[in-house]
Amino acid sequence: MWETGGGSSACYIIPEIKMFTMEPLPQREAQVGPLTLHRVLPARGRRMIGPWCFFDRYGPLSFTENPPMDVAPHPHIGLQTLSWLFDGEIIHNDSLGSECLVGPGHLSLMTAGRGIAHAEQTPRENSGKLNGVQLWIALPDAVRSMPPAFQCTSDLGVVERPSGVVTVIAGDVSGQHSPGKFFSPTLGAEIKLHRNAAFDLPLDPSFEHGIMLVEGDAYAYTSQLDRDTLYYLTPGYDEIRLKSEQGARLLLIGGAPFGETILMWWNFVARSGEEMAEAHRRWEAHALAGEVPRYTGARLEAPELPGRLIAR
Ligand code: MN
Repeated sequence: MWETGGGSSACYIIPEIKMFTMEPLPQREAQVGPLTLHRVLPARGRRMIGPWCFFDRYGPLSFTENPPMDVAPHPHIGLQTLSWLFDGEIIHNDSLGSECLVGPGHLSLMTAGRGIAHAEQTPRENSGKLNGVQLWIALPDAVRSMPPAFQCTSDLGVVERPSGVVTVIAGDVSGQHSPGKFFSPTLGAEIKLHRNAAFDLPLDPSFEHGIMLVEGDAYAYTSQLDRDTLYYLTPGYDEIRLKSEQGARLLLIGGAPFGETILMWWNFVARSGEEMAEAHRRWEAHALAGEVPRYTGARLEAPELPGRLIAR
């Protein structure tokens, strides 16, 4: 605040001060088969960011003998799964008969709708590396019993600037689009910053966002980011200002606050305990989804349904 003009009629101009607060979300270790990973969402105090309701971070790891990923056929309802790799490869197979070799820069988007089963494995021929995220997106009530679908593509929108490159995983960035089909306002982007670069990315102020530094070093606004920590940004931000000294790779997610209360248990997103019990019963009866044709081995059995779900 400073005084302008003189004399008796003092006039004060208050500069606009924006308070940028980014909340680092706590995470916990989890085990998926032989793979140890970090579960970032749901976090204590922050269950969702837009429609994003689940965020597992795994790697970077290298291996020579035992492939780190072998997730046997298991079902999903009421959500979309999105696999995004920074390094390595995964084979996706599902009960629609889809097969997709997922690699870096490759969108693997499965819409479970009323029910699908899939398996994810490190392929026999592999680079010996794995580094990525597994994300879930809740489906709005109006579409969540739709038939299942699967998209696999590397033809994604890209924003190139002298300071870096943005690959659009979900939604739109600066007029570039993801071909992925989403059912509520959703954003996902991988951002690569060059050395000694500053990058201002426009944001939709009606969205909430989460940003994670995956490699290198970066500042968001004036805060230095810890690696592999997801920082939550409330709605109201119309841009994110990033910079890096050594170069960086970041993941940005966002979307309109979801506005529906969801229930998550095992691999299901639903709205009631009755629905969970029904999905559980149908999976056990081989009636929720077809078999996954290319997977050799047993499928995953559902864990026992917790009493709190049965009682509802
Ligand atoms: Mn899955």
